Amino acid sequence: PVKVKKIGIMKKIISAPRGTTDILPEEAILWQFMENEARRQFFSYGYQEIRTPMFEETELFARSMGQTSDIVQKQMLNLAAQGVDAATDSSLSLRPEGTAAIVRSYIENNLDKRERLSKFFYIAPMFRGERPQKGRLRQFHQIGVEAIGPDSTSPYLDAEIISLSVLLLQKLGVNDFILKLNTLGTIEDKNNFSQYLRKQIGSRVSDLCPDCQNRYERNVFRVLDCKNKSCKEIVKDLELNYSYLSETSRRYYESVKAALDSLGIVYHQQPDLVRGLDYYTHTVFELSCNRLGSQDALGAGGRYNHLVQELGGPEVGAVGFALGMERIILARPPEEIPKSKIQVYVIALGERFFPRAFQLLQLLRENKIAADMNFSDAGLKSQMRQANKSGADFVMMIGEEEFINGMATVKNMSNGSQEQISLDKIQDFINERKA
Ligand code: AMP
Repeated sequence: PVKVKKIGIMKKIISAPRGTTDILPEEAILWQFMENEARRQFFSYGYQEIRTPMFEETELFARSMGQTSDIVQKQMLNLAAQGVDAATDSSLSLRPEGTAAIVRSYIENNLDKRERLSKFFYIAPMFRGERPQKGRLRQFHQIGVEAIGPDSTSPYLDAEIISLSVLLLQKLGVNDFILKLNTLGTIEDKNNFSQYLRKQIGSRVSDLCPDCQNRYERNVFRVLDCKNKSCKEIVKDLELNYSYLSETSRRYYESVKAALDSLGIVYHQQPDLVRGLDYYTHTVFELSCNRLGSQDALGAGGRYNHLVQELGGPEVGAVGFALGMERIILARPPEEIPKSKIQVYVIALGERFFPRAFQLLQLLRENKIAADMNFSDAGLKSQMRQANKSGADFVMMIGEEEFINGMATVKNMSNGSQEQISLDKIQDFINERKA
């Protein structure tokens, strides 16, 4: 329900929907910094941006993430169909994550015909109908990558993706996080693993929470993620020794670890890390920061060798990850990012001089000199105060004398020096400062 506050004559104030936030200009500086840093890093690893729609057919998510995943069962934000759409029976949902849509696009656009390995990145809002709390929103933002194609099945690519996620977190200012690593092996290994788990849990099924008793049958891996105390106790006692892995899968995992070792990337092996989604095979990993409390996952990823085929595409493998931007902000020290400021503040000393000052302002802006002006008739003192606040390097003033002589008084705000420049010569001023 929309929260409604009442004021004076009963005008409603409408708040942002539950679990969403506004990013105000002073916060947006940090977001821009993060996005720029991420883009730089992605390009240096050879990843290109892909943008897919914010909503897709609901079936896409159900088929990719698995019917038993929490996201599909409880968190899909469906769009109410209206008009033309109401007549069709397809249901639409806001995207809860990036992978499914990118795979859909990969298949639809026949991208496998273009290159042997497609490396994508995205920086985009995601939507899940969760109960909001610290670090958990209904609209949140992810930075992620997917590497898809016939040439994607090298353990070095798993290591590349992991190293990219680690480097990215470091570049974004997060220093105290850990990398948890595991392997699930092939689909056959996963089947063995789930049988092994059922056997290990064995007679203790009835001690599992009611949800997990259900999961025991339908998707036993999810028991490993359960936050319930009695389930955690049981999971703690399990002996997870990789005996359920085939020799090939074991070797694959060893190669991933060797590649990480060669880069000096520290990881913690965690045999009970399985991730909540059906599509993972082989490598899975998670990056977490224990200072964040219950929502401590900064990001996660892994390999998904069958999803493209599952969704009707060619038989090609893939690997990817997603980091949550809001969580990264919570995990990084609150260091200030310098805000971009204007270079020139234009002052007109009286409304009569507005037209000329306005033209000067335009000339500066057209030449990519960041410039601003206050369109009020305030006095010199008040306008100088604003100029100071803006952080401008220069002030250009036009008053009576300047107007008559076709000049502007230019004040250098860092040393206080002042000179008059003919308006014809402003171009020289601009040329000296152009990047
Ligand atoms: P997931 O696909 O659930 O593994 O999500 C990957 C990352 O996205 C998580 O590690 C979080 O950092 C972030 N994330 C997921 N869900 C939310 C949410 N509801 N609110 C904020 N961040 C989220």
